[in-house]
Amino acid sequence: MGKKILLLDGDLQFSKLVSSVLEGRGHNVTVSTVASHPGDLSVGELDLIILSSPLPNSDDLEWLTQLRQEGCLAKVILVANNQDHLHHLKPKVSKDLSVSLMVHKPLIPYIFGAQVDRQLDPDQSEAANQKMKDFETMFLALVTKYARVLPNRIGELSQAIEKAKANPGDPDMTGEVRGLAHKIKGTGGSLGFRLVSECMGFIEDAAAALPDMTHEEQLIAWAELDRKLVEAQLAGELECQEIAQAVSNADVKVPTAPHNPAMTRILVVDDDKQFLDIICALGKQRLVDIVRASNHKEAIEQAVVYPLDAALINVVPADPESSFRLARSIRELPGYENLPLAFISGQALVKDRVEAAHAGASLYLDKPLESDALEKAVQHLVNIRQGGRPRILVCDDDEFFANTVALVLRNEGMIVRTLNDPSKILETMQEYPPELMLLDVMMPGVTGFEVCRMLRQIPRWQDLPIIFLTGQTGVEARLEAFRSGGDDYLPKPVVNEELLTRVSVRLDRARMLKDRSDKDTTTGLLLRRAFSEQLSAILAEAHRLKTTFTICLLDVDHFKKVNDTYGHLAGDKVLAGLGQLLSRRFRVDDLRGRWGGEEFMLTFKRETKATMLLAVNRVLDEFRAIEFSGDKGEVFHNSFSGGIAEYPIDGESVFELVKVADARLYLAKKRGRKMIVVDDVPFVEEEVADVESQGRVEAEKPSEAKASH
Ligand code: GH3
Ligand code: MG
Ligand code: MG
Repeated sequence: MGKKILLLDGDLQFSKLVSSVLEGRGHNVTVSTVASHPGDLSVGELDLIILSSPLPNSDDLEWLTQLRQEGCLAKVILVANNQDHLHHLKPKVSKDLSVSLMVHKPLIPYIFGAQVDRQLDPDQSEAANQKMKDFETMFLALVTKYARVLPNRIGELSQAIEKAKANPGDPDMTGEVRGLAHKIKGTGGSLGFRLVSECMGFIEDAAAALPDMTHEEQLIAWAELDRKLVEAQLAGELECQEIAQAVSNADVKVPTAPHNPAMTRILVVDDDKQFLDIICALGKQRLVDIVRASNHKEAIEQAVVYPLDAALINVVPADPESSFRLARSIRELPGYENLPLAFISGQALVKDRVEAAHAGASLYLDKPLESDALEKAVQHLVNIRQGGRPRILVCDDDEFFANTVALVLRNEGMIVRTLNDPSKILETMQEYPPELMLLDVMMPGVTGFEVCRMLRQIPRWQDLPIIFLTGQTGVEARLEAFRSGGDDYLPKPVVNEELLTRVSVRLDRARMLKDRSDKDTTTGLLLRRAFSEQLSAILAEAHRLKTTFTICLLDVDHFKKVNDTYGHLAGDKVLAGLGQLLSRRFRVDDLRGRWGGEEFMLTFKRETKATMLLAVNRVLDEFRAIEFSGDKGEVFHNSFSGGIAEYPIDGESVFELVKVADARLYLAKKRGRKMIVVDDVPFVEEEVADVESQGRVEAEKPSEAKASH
């Protein structure tokens, strides 16, 4: 993705800033302060030229004209040094110069970086452009808000400095100065307040050095610190003004944020504009972000651009099949294999419902949709998103910093929660278990290192990837980060590519490891421990919501015989085949696990025994139809038996339910196998003889094994 960029600007400071942002985005930037003769530059290889105007000692537009005449095809972004100059330039920039974008200083570096990327990738769809604009809008809103509080923040620092001066030698007081400066440095720097951030870096370092100084040295240091503070105040005023100007000119309206990445995002597909409006209004009320699409092409386009949590698809009455096809196409997009789906229909026919279930729908809703129904549907859909968007927790006492990081990560499709009060960390993590945590080091009352140490003592969080975010870059701080159990370390300001890369690499690894430890390799299903954990959670939820769920214990019939007759390898193939079948059938939110040996366990949320019986029987028929081949190429068929138990009527604990299901499985075996049992009618001898003899008629090998359960 890295592109070759030439940055031509007389102001080295500006060039440094912009090139660091662009390099952070993976580009290769050459900086020059003078427009050399075009022939001197290897412009033929360039993808983009960022040309500032006016240039010292040369005419920018003339230079560009000559460049174009010599056949240079690079894209050009023109950066005027102020708004007036831009107005003056605009009429002079002819079509022949093919300038792709004209902006003026001051620029917000991060936003400018995004704009550059947009110019470099011309094939962006409408939706992709909109997404970028949404992001810019929110970033600018955040910057604007910060600009408003920055004077107060600097004011607080000034007071802290006064206090510290009045109490010489008090380490808490200088610590306070250091902490406040540190915070402004990190957040201000991340949001584009470069000068303020630099001053704060100076103040922080000076305050840190104070305790080791002699009295005389301290006096000098305080004087310097005062000077820097004044400098910071002036810089703050200047940068706030600049930013206000940049925001007002940034071609984005602040801030009706059409798509808020903070929220659960659901794609709604319906050709009825009125209905979409209603859903959007409902979404607003319920804090759900609705991405709308009025046709199937649009739906796919949106799904590619916006990371979705679920999709709600209207069933077209004239052509229901096309809606199910759309659902399947969305599920085929990378990352959406398990996207929870719901269909809505004005006239729900049973046949459509069955089709919908087959296409993977978890819900079938009737139109008109009431607000309650939408909310429930949303909750339901979001709960079942397995392995979906990664969940990140950002813990930083500076809400602006946390929000900025959150915004950037959300823009990449992650779900992010911010926490400003580290004392609430455990309860927050209980309610919102993160997959990765970004942790600030300097916080009031407790350091990030201490928080990390504490978390590592809790088994549940021992493997949680923790990345420290801090402005302290000394060796000691870095070592402490790893000593306390952290996985990685990122220096503030951090709004850049590195943040995204490190976070996603950590996430991928963590997921891979979890998958490896949770799943059985032969069948691809959950292992008993992971299954039990999830089952306990389902039980807790059913208890809380007073709903029901069912479990089914399955056992392959005469499996020992399969091994003995056809070989162990063939036995493994049978297990793998059943595993695959179970994972492809049923809804995304149904649990399937390998309970042990040739035993499997299923859980259906909110379903009764009757429904589960139907579903599992269908799979039993499918399984019996599969042709397996033995070690010597012999063809054979197989079957399984099962026992079902329902919460709460058959038991109120996992233990009781499994016991009941196991007893029914035993009954199924006794009654002749290849069947699922949901009752406890005691087994009668003649009945079995009957069933057994029937079983023999359609005899599949192996048929004679003893009932060994
Ligand atoms: P029933 O119909 O009564 O369940 O009879 P069964 O033969 O299936 O039951 P039994 O419990 O006697 O035998 C289970 C066999 O499954 C014994 C064990 O060697 C085999 N087994 C367990 N795990 C695996 C595995 O991973 N691969 C293979 N090939 N065999 C396995
Ligand atoms: Mg068995
Ligand atoms: Mg067994």
